[in-house]
Amino acid sequence: MRKILRTIWPYLWRYRTGLLLGMGALVVKDIGGAALPFVIGKGVDAITKGFNVRLVLWFAGALVALSAIKGLFQYWMRVIIIGISRDIEYDLRNDLFLHLVSLSSDFYGRMRTGDIMARATNDLNAVRMMLGPGIMYWAETSITFVFVFLVMLWTDWRLTLFALLPAPMVSLAVMYFGRLIHDRFERIQKMFSDVSSRVQENISGVRVIRAYVQEEAELKQFERLNRDYIAQNLKLAWISGLFMPLLQALVGITLLIVLWIGGSRLMEGRITLGQFVMFNTYMGILVWPMIAFGWVVNLMQRGTASLGRISQILEERPSIAAPKNLRRLPSPVRGEIEFRDVTVDYDSGRALDGISLKIPAGATVAIVGHTGSGKSTLVQLIPRLMDPTRGSVLIDGVDLRELDPAELRRHIGFVPQDTFLFSAKLSENVAFGVESASEEEIRRAAELAGLAPDVESFPDGYQTVVGERGITLSGGQKQRTAIARAVVRNPRILILDDALSSVDTLTEDRILSALADVMRGRTTILISHRVSTVRNADRIFVVEKGRIAEEGDHAELLELGGYYADLYQKQLLEEELEAI
Ligand code: ADP
Ligand code: MG
Repeated sequence: MRKILRTIWPYLWRYRTGLLLGMGALVVKDIGGAALPFVIGKGVDAITKGFNVRLVLWFAGALVALSAIKGLFQYWMRVIIIGISRDIEYDLRNDLFLHLVSLSSDFYGRMRTGDIMARATNDLNAVRMMLGPGIMYWAETSITFVFVFLVMLWTDWRLTLFALLPAPMVSLAVMYFGRLIHDRFERIQKMFSDVSSRVQENISGVRVIRAYVQEEAELKQFERLNRDYIAQNLKLAWISGLFMPLLQALVGITLLIVLWIGGSRLMEGRITLGQFVMFNTYMGILVWPMIAFGWVVNLMQRGTASLGRISQILEERPSIAAPKNLRRLPSPVRGEIEFRDVTVDYDSGRALDGISLKIPAGATVAIVGHTGSGKSTLVQLIPRLMDPTRGSVLIDGVDLRELDPAELRRHIGFVPQDTFLFSAKLSENVAFGVESASEEEIRRAAELAGLAPDVESFPDGYQTVVGERGITLSGGQKQRTAIARAVVRNPRILILDDALSSVDTLTEDRILSALADVMRGRTTILISHRVSTVRNADRIFVVEKGRIAEEGDHAELLELGGYYADLYQKQLLEEELEAI
């Protein structure tokens, strides 16, 4: 509970003035509301003693004034408090997003995307409901209840106790049914998301379904899902249908008690007619707090549970962050990279095993090796997408852990193995992270990456939207867009992790020679399966099971007659076969 309060306190504190104003309005409104029946009772008594027009007008005027005050302050109360709950929701959502962006990839390895999304939407909503309606109705109902209870007690304590006997039952019923309905509702929402993901999957995978003649099977499965969904909905309708009449019956019993016992006490002359009327009016006022109390308890429970789930994320610290005592890279950055006895362990096992290697500034090196040998892991260490388990990585002699990751990454153009494009314009995808890039620079980057000829055939050129909302790029086009994105940053170090795998060899040749021009004097690291990609590199490393197995230039490695030489022979043969 303390942890939860610590999460939410800064937000409440930020809006303390508004909250105080809202609470003030709430108290005034409650006093006005509680005074109404009192005035009515007094009026009835005064009029029964002797009718007189001035008296009636006076009481009528007082009632109208009180109602106006109550209405006005109720309006302010709602506008202020509900408004603040929206403000806090907004702040919390922003902070959550900012925080999510700052977290390192190991967090995303542990958490499922759907889970994160649920916390950022449903849980955030539950927190808002707690802070807005929850707190507001809680304060409103408790204050009303205390006021009304005291006045009633003071008038006739016996009648008060009888009258309020069923009140806890109303609250409990609301609580119980509220929870039941909420659980059912959540289950239905989850089912609905199952149904819609099923539909989405079927639409995206429609070609596979046709090709494997699975229409019937898919239809059957969908029908089952759809039937379950409807069944759950009917259950919910059944419960909510039961709930309202039950509530009304309970409330009716309360009113009945007041009418009965109050009536007999009126006959006995223990209370006046005015007090009897007042009691009835108060009971009418108390119906809402009785209902609201049960509801508020549920809102609070849901809200605190959700806040707990949100603060779990907010308390995650990025495992990769800027150190306290920053060191800066020498300016200009030369781009010498050194791995010192680097070991990386995943949960699944060891990916890199004591790798030491040095890449001189300005060199073009290549890394080859079987899938799963650790190539991607190795290069991910350079922009510090993760840290080695043991050992260290240095750029220009500075340990990466002493640098600000953001400043380090500004000097690196990194094309990951699986390219990701945003549903945005092509030019925005290329200039991602370099907002200042001019059209000219984007064009040049696209040319270097061999993307320019394709762009000419697109309907809107560089303004074409790609991804889900736009045209679908081929694998090779995606890769070249990603390369352009890396090149437009004008990096000192360029890393291409298998970034030419979907590009034909001719285009690959063109891209490589264009890049060689730009990257002259800068460091380039190429990962590839193709000898044609890497043969011109200054130095080639063969990685095997997380270790460097071979090292040298093209000619030296052929001489060595190991993995690389094998690869070369195989690909040479393939080429010859293709030529036939
Ligand atoms: P390569 O790029 O040479 O194909 P990787 O560096 O991707 O190799 O992977 C090396 C090994 O580490 C593989 O056995 C792979 O299964 C494992 N691995 C890679 N990434 C992760 C990860 N995020 N979590 C757990 N294991 C991983
Ligand atoms: Mg890889």
